Amino acid sequence: MQRLYFLTLILIWLAKPAFSQQAVVDAIFSNALKSDVAYEQLRILCTTTEGRIAGSPQAAAAVEYTKQLMEQMDLDSVYLQKVMVPNWKRGEPEQARLISRVLGNQELSVTALGLSVGTGPQGLIAPVLEVQSLEELEQLGEAAVKGKIVFFNRAVNQDHYNTFQGYSGAVDQRVMGPLTAARLGAVAALVRSVTTASHDYPHTGVTRFDADGRNIPALAVSPKGADLLSQALKTDPDLSLYLRNTSHQLPDAVSYNVIGEIRGTDFPDQIITVGGHIDAWDNSQGAHDNGGGCVQSIDMLRIFRELNIQDEEIRQTGGNTYADSANAASEKHYFALESDRGVFTPRGFSIDAEGEQLEALQALKPYFEAYGMHEFVKGGSGVDIRPLKNYYNMAQAGLVTDSQRYFDLHHAASDTFEKINRRELNLGTAAMAAFIYLIDHLDTLGEE
Ligand SMILES: [Zn+2]
Repeated sequence: MQRLYFLTLILIWLAKPAFSQQAVVDAIFSNALKSDVAYEQLRILCTTTEGRIAGSPQAAAAVEYTKQLMEQMDLDSVYLQKVMVPNWKRGEPEQARLISRVLGNQELSVTALGLSVGTGPQGLIAPVLEVQSLEELEQLGEAAVKGKIVFFNRAVNQDHYNTFQGYSGAVDQRVMGPLTAARLGAVAALVRSVTTASHDYPHTGVTRFDADGRNIPALAVSPKGADLLSQALKTDPDLSLYLRNTSHQLPDAVSYNVIGEIRGTDFPDQIITVGGHIDAWDNSQGAHDNGGGCVQSIDMLRIFRELNIQDEEIRQTGGNTYADSANAASEKHYFALESDRGVFTPRGFSIDAEGEQLEALQALKPYFEAYGMHEFVKGGSGVDIRPLKNYYNMAQAGLVTDSQRYFDLHHAASDTFEKINRRELNLGTAAMAAFIYLIDHLDTLGEE
């Protein structure tokens, strides 16, 4: 979902340690790998606030839980920042039934897309038009689309090593497909789940809601369901589909960014932000997306405190609200780091910086090579910290993880705590902590 609120740390410190920087990095990894603190915190977050979509009681509980976690730590301040969030409700479990005179009836595994409108309590029945792309749909035009359920069935391209590439090559169908189909007169849209898996879980995700236009019910179908429907359409092009969902939007709700700070002594007005988003899709525990990123961000602080890395400023917060208020407070944002690519073995960092800053950050790679991290590449950071770029000419980065398994569970009910490996979680925390530690000792960024 578009980030509704999130959790961030900001830190600054400039006390130089007496020992070599590699020794500090090694101590951070050693501390993290022996710990089960973050793993246990994630277990509690996942099992007590399952389905913590923005605006839900579970989300409020997650805010409270992470705030309490930070209050129990030795931080300079912990507080909440009010954020207004969309308040979309899924309603009753969705239904999709293929109805064919030739093949009989068959249930498909579906889930409403975030911000989708409902079908009404009766549901709807319509013939199905399968397309592979938005372009194909536009070319077919209104005459072919009117009155139909448009079925977007282009699968994620599996060729890419980095599964995020495959994902971004297919996700336009989910984000823009229903809206495009609605403009051409479709009655509903069904989108193949944007996943590299071939299982029977449907994967949700946000779809564009047109406040001034026509909106139609929009659902995702599992990859197995998509294959079944596509095959059925070949045998019986006249089949129809019954869809029912009761999702709807309530007025925006109040939620909060959860912020923890360790205040620097030497440069207390310079801030480093680290965080993840605390909300999750309502169909899952949100273990990888993004409970893991939240507990990693919090656990960094524990490590800094335990290793006596002093004089930080740390603070946790989120999204546009965070960026806007940071700007208003005339703080200097120095660097921001986000963890939101699943809790898998870290491979490096995707660095959103130019010129000297980029080179300086890439030059940190040798510190991490012993830990299997080799990707220090120029690229995007993360959607939650990006709004800070509206105000600050700052460097940002995202933790890069091994992406092979992420889209098996991204936005699906399969994103559960049991899929988390303690060592992978802790390696990610250590990577983030070590990166922030090293960045704090870089002069290049400070000159900005
Ligand atoms: Zn996420």
